[in-house]
Amino acid sequence: MRIGTCHFCSRPVYPSKGITFIRNDAKEFRFCRSKCHKNFKMKRNPRKLKWTKAFRKAAGKEMVVDTTLTFAARRHVPTRYSRDLVAKTLTAMQRIEEIRRKRERQFYLKRMAGNKARQREADRKLVAENQHLLPPDQRTVVPEKAEEVSDMEMSGMEESESEREKELVKVKVKGRKAKVTDGAMDLD
Ligand SMILES: [Zn+2]
Repeated sequence: MRIGTCHFCSRPVYPSKGITFIRNDAKEFRFCRSKCHKNFKMKRNPRKLKWTKAFRKAAGKEMVVDTTLTFAARRHVPTRYSRDLVAKTLTAMQRIEEIRRKRERQFYLKRMAGNKARQREADRKLVAENQHLLPPDQRTVVPEKAEEVSDMEMSGMEESESEREKELVKVKVKGRKAKVTDGAMDLD
């Protein structure tokens, strides 16, 4: 039993599953599901769609260069059947799979390393830049107190100003509404 790979997303295609398209030059295209088949018919480039393996490999999100990945390649070299060779191959397949899993895990950890620290730094920066949004007792003390006070005053002023503006707007709208209703009343 040979398990094919999807031409579009590189998922495994088990026998009797998916769709096979054979072009008139006899090239075979296997698809794992109608989604991939449809995208192929729409002539989309799998490298530009984030859900495909082709994109992930091109974007450096998957392990690409590794000796464990070369074992799956098809070889056109005939070998004479021998029971020992089959047994050896089967154990080798398991071992290679194990090694590949470990390496992939390492690759993932390496790729994700430093994300937490970066996120924490970004969060700290966000908090430092938006101190005026925090309640006064939760604000971290900034060394230059005079500036902070002036900032607070400024923000307070701004708030009061915006409130006043809102009030003005409300009044204006009310006035308009009243006028409109008056007009409607007149029309009726
Ligand atoms: Zn697919």
